[in-house]
Amino acid sequence: MQTDFTPAQLADPQMAASAAVIRKCVHCGFCTATCPTYVLLGDELDSPRGRIYLMKDMLENGRIPGPDVVKHIDRCLSCLSCMTTCPSGVNYMHLVDHARAYIERHYRRPWAERAMRALVAAILPYPARFRAALALARRARPLAPFFARVKPLRPAAAMLHLAPAHLPPKAALNAGTAPGPRGRVVLMQGCAEPVLRPEIRAATIRLLERCGYQVSFAAGETCCGALTHHMGKEHAALHFARRNVDAWTREIETGLDAILITASGCGTTIKDYGFMLREDPVYAAKAAKVSALAKDVCELLEASGLPARADIPALNVVYHPPCSLQHGQKITAAPQNLLRAAGFAVRLPADAHLCCGSAGTYNIFQPEIAAQLGARKAESIAALRPDVVATGNIGCAVQISQAMQAPVLHVVELLDWATGGPAPGAG
Ligand code: SF4
Ligand code: SF4
Repeated sequence: MQTDFTPAQLADPQMAASAAVIRKCVHCGFCTATCPTYVLLGDELDSPRGRIYLMKDMLENGRIPGPDVVKHIDRCLSCLSCMTTCPSGVNYMHLVDHARAYIERHYRRPWAERAMRALVAAILPYPARFRAALALARRARPLAPFFARVKPLRPAAAMLHLAPAHLPPKAALNAGTAPGPRGRVVLMQGCAEPVLRPEIRAATIRLLERCGYQVSFAAGETCCGALTHHMGKEHAALHFARRNVDAWTREIETGLDAILITASGCGTTIKDYGFMLREDPVYAAKAAKVSALAKDVCELLEASGLPARADIPALNVVYHPPCSLQHGQKITAAPQNLLRAAGFAVRLPADAHLCCGSAGTYNIFQPEIAAQLGARKAESIAALRPDVVATGNIGCAVQISQAMQAPVLHVVELLDWATGGPAPGAG
C-alpha cells in the first residue's frame, strides 16, 4: 500500500514502524475471511483491511480520530488471526497497538467510558485489588440487569456477570526450592490467573518439578502490561514492562533457562517487550533478552518431554487454542501433542482459529460482540461432546466456562494429573 508520511513524521520511530507495516499490505483481503468481527458484522470497516485503511488515514494525516473511527478500532479483538492469514507478513499487532496509543492520546472518550476504563486499569492488573473487587462484585451482582439497560454502564454489567460466584481461597505463593537437573526456570506469577484459578500455578509447579526443573518466582514482578497495552495506555504498559525486565534481569544474572508463562495473553506481550522497549537506551538490550527467554509452558514441556504416565481415564478432550497462543505466538501443535502423549483423545472444534470473545478486557468493553463469539465457540465445542475442555489462557477459560457444562481446565492441569498429580478439582 502506498503511503505518504512526511520525513518529519517518519523521524518518529513509532510512526516509521507503522508506515513500514502499512506499506506491506497489498489490500488482497485474504484476512477478512478469518477476522471474527468481519465474520459476525460483515462490515469492511470491522475487518483487518478496513481497519488498516482507517489507521493509515488517521496516522498519515495526523487526524484527531472521531467516534466512528474509534468504534471500529475498539471492536478489534487483537486476536491476531489476520496475522496468521496474511500472505504479506503485515504486523497488524504493532500497527493496532500504535493506533490505540494514538487514540488514547488524541481522543476524549465520553466520561462514563473514561471512568470505566480507568477503573479497569486501576484494578485488574493488581491481584489484591482484583480479589477485593471480585468479592464486592458478588454482592453487587443483583444490580447487573439495571447496569445492562444503561448503555454506558454495560461494561459494569459485564464485569458483574463475569465475576465468579465462588472465589477460591488465597493461595500461598510458594515456588519449588529443590534444585532441578534440567535447569532453573522462573514462573510468571500473573495477576488474574492466581486469583481466579490458583490451582493452575500449583499444577504447573508440580509438573515442572516432576520434569526436573527448579521453579522460582521473581521478586518485584508485576502484571505483564497486556491489559493496559491493549487499552492504549502506553505509559502504564511500559511501566509494567520495565519493572518486569528489572525483576527478571536479576534472575537472569544468577543463571536462568527460561521465563515461563501459563497465560498465553501475557506471553504474547512479554515476547514483544524487546519491540516495545526498543527505543529505550537503558532497557532495550535487557528487554530483548527477557523476550528471548520467555516461553509458554507448553513450549518448554514439549521440548523436555513428559514424565511417565499415571493410570488415569482416557478422557475426550476438546482443545480450545487461545488466539494469543496460536496467532500471537504461533504455538499450535505443542499443547495437543502433549495432551495426546499423556493419553488423552484430543479434538479441535470447528473454526478453532476464531476468537472466543474473551480477548483481555474485550468481554468487558464490547460485551455484545463478545457474547456472540462466546456462544458460537461454546456451540462448536459442545458439538464434540467433550468430557473436558482444555485451553492455555485464563481469559478463555473464564469466557468459555460461562457457556459450557463441561469443566474448562488449563492444559497443565491435565498433564499434571496424567503424570502423577491430583485429579483437577481434588488437589
Ligand atoms: S491479508 Fe495482509 S496484505 Fe492482504 S489485506 Fe489483509 S493485511 Fe493486507
Ligand atoms: S486482530 Fe482479530 S479482530 Fe482485529 S482485525 Fe485482526 S482478525 Fe480482526
